[in-house]
Amino acid sequence: MTAKDRKVIINKDWCKGCGICVAFCPKNVLALDHHDKIEVANRDACILCGQCELRCPDFAIWLGGEADE
Ligand code: SF4
Ligand code: SF4
Repeated sequence: MTAKDRKVIINKDWCKGCGICVAFCPKNVLALDHHDKIEVANRDACILCGQCELRCPDFAIWLGGEADE
């Protein structure tokens, strides 16, 4: 897997809707949906900084590859 293939992966079942990752994402990639679950609203803007993975208390978001989906 090359760096180019990495992307944000989410697990809505584990997300409790705290909004921490939304607040820390420097590129406004993330948003909460109508059920207060995380969603990738603007994937093209993601710079793969890893802040969302680092800050999520519930391991519901991480950087992975195609095989992780
Ligand atoms: S990796 Fe960085 S830019 Fe991408 S969604 Fe997470 S916090 Fe935002
Ligand atoms: S930090 Fe984790 S639990 Fe909180 S909204 Fe983001 S993905 Fe969901």
